[in-house]
Amino acid sequence: MKGLWEYISAKAKYALSPRQVMSLIMFVLGIFNMGLLIFFVIFSIYPMVLVSMFSVTLYIYCFIQASRDKNLLLVFNLSYAEIMIHAVASVLLLGVDSGFSLYIIAMLPLGYYASYNFSSEKKSVNPMLYVLFSGVAFCFARILGSSMHPLYSYGNKSIDRAMYMVNYFVAVIAIVLFFSTLLNQIKYLESQQKNQNKKLEELSKTDALTGLANRRSIQERYEDSELLQESYAVILADIDDFKKVNDTYGHDAGDRTLKAVSAVFKNAVRGEDIVCRWGGEEILVFLPKCPLENAKDRAEAILQNIRKLQLTTQEHSSFGVTMTFGVAISEEAGSFTEVVQKADERLYTGKQTGKNQVV
Ligand code: GH3
Ligand code: MG
Ligand code: MG
Repeated sequence: MKGLWEYISAKAKYALSPRQVMSLIMFVLGIFNMGLLIFFVIFSIYPMVLVSMFSVTLYIYCFIQASRDKNLLLVFNLSYAEIMIHAVASVLLLGVDSGFSLYIIAMLPLGYYASYNFSSEKKSVNPMLYVLFSGVAFCFARILGSSMHPLYSYGNKSIDRAMYMVNYFVAVIAIVLFFSTLLNQIKYLESQQKNQNKKLEELSKTDALTGLANRRSIQERYEDSELLQESYAVILADIDDFKKVNDTYGHDAGDRTLKAVSAVFKNAVRGEDIVCRWGGEEILVFLPKCPLENAKDRAEAILQNIRKLQLTTQEHSSFGVTMTFGVAISEEAGSFTEVVQKADERLYTGKQTGKNQVV
């Protein structure tokens, strides 16, 4: 019951596929027409018995097609036309007071459902065609129905009234279901799109090999950021003789080295710090509210752990790597770019004076 309420309030967390929707509609219409068939047999309204027999056969065919996800637009058009013809015929046979013309109005949202779900690049389904078709059918039924006596009469006004009420409620239920189905579908697709966008955004900020933030993301995050107004430190680190690692042990071993080195950095930082792959084998750490001495100690600690790394080649022999670090703080320069430059200069000095150290 709660699920149904959520569904018709357009708050369902799921959407029915067009195949499910069409199969369900064909099933319900088939059952509904069977009910009508029995009703018309009981009241001996034989022309309507024939119409209902035709309708039931049509819906069996449509249900089979829809449940196989075949010709959904054809199934839709057939059932739409059937409902129109059936409604007009019912009005002419049973009178305008029977309420069958309500179905012609209840069908209006369906044209929009079809347009949303059955339009393709090749063929666009125009909902206004269905609206026009409904309009013509409605006018035809009302004008002709009002100007002639119903062909059949139950001879009882209260049956007419009950019939009208039943038709009214069924038509309202149909409208509610069409709109909630369409809205649930749109909401579901929207939420899927949001999740997709989130994933893409995450991917666009992450370096695929190391899982670290990429250079662009750190620039985006810290440019104009309030964090840049306060003091911060930058550590820039570069693997020593990495070309040799690639040349000696192969590119795969180089990649594994990068991953292992990145993991050491990731484990070493606090929550508010950011580790980023700045270049090929250069890693930048942004440390908010971190004085120079602390930043230097942090870099030393990372270097210790890098030296302890045991990397393995494809032949299962092991090798190690070292890194050189340049550290700078915000007080030493004006902008973030200049602080990074300062750290880079120190990194260069470190490379010139023996590598494997923090400058
Ligand atoms: P130095 O000590 O002066 O830094 O020497 P180096 O050999 O490390 O020199 P440099 O920093 O110029 O070399 C960077 C090398 O890193 C060159 C490039 O082939 C390698 N590299 C960059 N990105 C990747 C990567 O994603 N995977 C692998 N395997 N190698 C990479
Ligand atoms: Mg290097
Ligand atoms: Mg380099």
